[in-house]
Amino acid sequence: MKNRMNELVERLNRYAKEYYELDRPSISDAEYDQLYRELVALEEAQPDAVLPNSPTHRVGGKILSGFEKYQHEYPLFSLQDAFSREELESFDARVRKEFPQATYICELKIDGLSISLTYENGHLVVGATRGDGSVGENITENLKRVQGIPLTLTRPETITVRGECYMPRASFARVNQQRQEAGESEFANPRNAAAGTLRQLDTGVVASRGLATFLYQVASPTTTDSQSHVLQHLDDLGFVTNHEYHFAQSMDDVWNFIEKIAAMREELPYDIDGVVIKVNDLAMQEELGFTVKAPRWAVAYKFPAEEKQAEILSVDWTVGRTGVVTPTANLSPVQLAGTTVSRATLHNVDYIAEKDIRIGDTVIVYKAGDIIPAVLRVVQDKRTDQEVMEIPQFCPSCGSQLLHYEDEVALRCINPICSAQIMSRLEHFASRDAMNIAGLGTSIVEKLFTAGLVKDVADIYRLEEADLLTVEGFQKKSAEKLYQAIQTSKGNSAERLLFGLGIRHVGSKASKILLEKFSNLENLAQAEMDEIASIDGLGQVIAKSLTTFFSSAGAQQLLVELKEAEVNLAYLGQVAVEGTILSGKTVVLTGKLERLKRSDAKAKLESLGANVAGSVSKKTDIVVAGTDAGSKLTKAQELGIEIQDEAWLESL
Ligand code: AMP
Ligand code: ZN
Repeated sequence: MKNRMNELVERLNRYAKEYYELDRPSISDAEYDQLYRELVALEEAQPDAVLPNSPTHRVGGKILSGFEKYQHEYPLFSLQDAFSREELESFDARVRKEFPQATYICELKIDGLSISLTYENGHLVVGATRGDGSVGENITENLKRVQGIPLTLTRPETITVRGECYMPRASFARVNQQRQEAGESEFANPRNAAAGTLRQLDTGVVASRGLATFLYQVASPTTTDSQSHVLQHLDDLGFVTNHEYHFAQSMDDVWNFIEKIAAMREELPYDIDGVVIKVNDLAMQEELGFTVKAPRWAVAYKFPAEEKQAEILSVDWTVGRTGVVTPTANLSPVQLAGTTVSRATLHNVDYIAEKDIRIGDTVIVYKAGDIIPAVLRVVQDKRTDQEVMEIPQFCPSCGSQLLHYEDEVALRCINPICSAQIMSRLEHFASRDAMNIAGLGTSIVEKLFTAGLVKDVADIYRLEEADLLTVEGFQKKSAEKLYQAIQTSKGNSAERLLFGLGIRHVGSKASKILLEKFSNLENLAQAEMDEIASIDGLGQVIAKSLTTFFSSAGAQQLLVELKEAEVNLAYLGQVAVEGTILSGKTVVLTGKLERLKRSDAKAKLESLGANVAGSVSKKTDIVVAGTDAGSKLTKAQELGIEIQDEAWLESL
């Protein structure tokens, strides 16, 4: 029986490697499943004999309570960046000053997260994140669920290795598809998805996400003499390494390789953000050494932000809460840095004029900071008979004349009772960093406003459940939920309220500083301009804006109304701010709790602003699982809902 177990483990691991790493499985899925089930049966019959490298260790949902800090024995370093050929040349010059004969190895810069793996006598003992380079987080249990990471090496070595854990584009597409179907927010790009996955407390979810790795470094002392041999050694030990590397004698060679990779970047099954150039000889590396944070023997060439061509189909003009009218282009959909983009900002009227952007133009789109799509410029060759874009003269919402001040790039609606402005102010008031009223988003605000129920923020607190029920789309449950969220928000520490009022120049950080100083909103409303301006980190502009606001009759009236509605106006300090960490979240308790009574746990969650529900659905945000949790937990896992345990509850 032992022999059969050995054989099964060896074969299943080999098949998995073929499947996940080499992409050429030699048996069918059905055959694999059959062998796998046979192994599970043998292991159940003989739990003591389960092999450490059995593939069964990789599956099964263990629920972790959190991650411990992990002190790296060998620190992880970052890399110096280069954005141009010139910068690469100067890197080369610095290297050649010491080693005229140096040669390089160029590797793809995988866009994932760095991980560190430590093996003792060939067994995986620790897997950790990079953290700040010297202290990371111990995520061993999660990394064990990543298929390409060997649980045991081909030789009993004690070694610490480094590499990148990433989400292949195929996994990314599948995960987002599932999330979309489940009504969950999609990940912005594979890198975010990988990061989110590695921080999962449910290892079952990690296993299902299809992460992968490329290893590229041995951190512990090694007898190898070059980076290419390091890669070879890692391969021999059973790790996955990236074979798309290239030797270069000169910067010409390096540049050719970079250009070749840039051209084929789209076809790779994973995201990369550059090419890493390393001096190949390890003895030279050692001589060259390190600067404060990065090795002198390597440089990371970063690709310019990804750009694509798309056609501008139309332009929407929307009015924000300060009256600024912002143009957004509707585009023919393009794939950009891992997501489908069909809208991009055009910033403002001056930008449109300066770049001469017209409807029907083919334009270059890119992601600013790799997140928000924007239009870079027009592809002039594709310009035919497009006409200069018509700039709106009247507010698309209230119809009043728009202004374009000389010292401003923006177009503005200055009508104080402009519906679009009022609605977006209400939306801002309810937003996450402000009063955090879940469920009070764009479309609900619009309905409440149109129904005449809410015209200013004080009206929000006058809403009754019965009022909500008169609005189309509300049912008993949803009305109750929104009503509760509104009530909960009354207890927020006042910096949220201040930020929510949307006073010009008063952001969430300034709000916090102000309330720390003045303890409550009423004191602040009385404060003199100089008193505010003298506070560290604030200044004249904010002080002027605040005093102007609070001296208006409308603002004074608003404060009175908020007070009447029992909205908290006091600063509650750090702890109290955290006291609202669960507000608007729906939490489900399941299984047996060891230390807390179910009713106490429920009360505790509610005191933190949570809405405690009885069953798990797409709307659930967090499931707290005790021991022997059953179908609710399974369902939560299927839906990819955040799962926590009793210790987490206590830690709140
Ligand atoms: P940066 O974060 O821009 O300083 O770049 C350094 C990071 O690049 C490292 O922490 C690694 O996670 C990552 N990286 C990706 N591929 C490689 C590679 N082939 N060699 C070295 N580092 C890499
Ligand atoms: Zn308007």
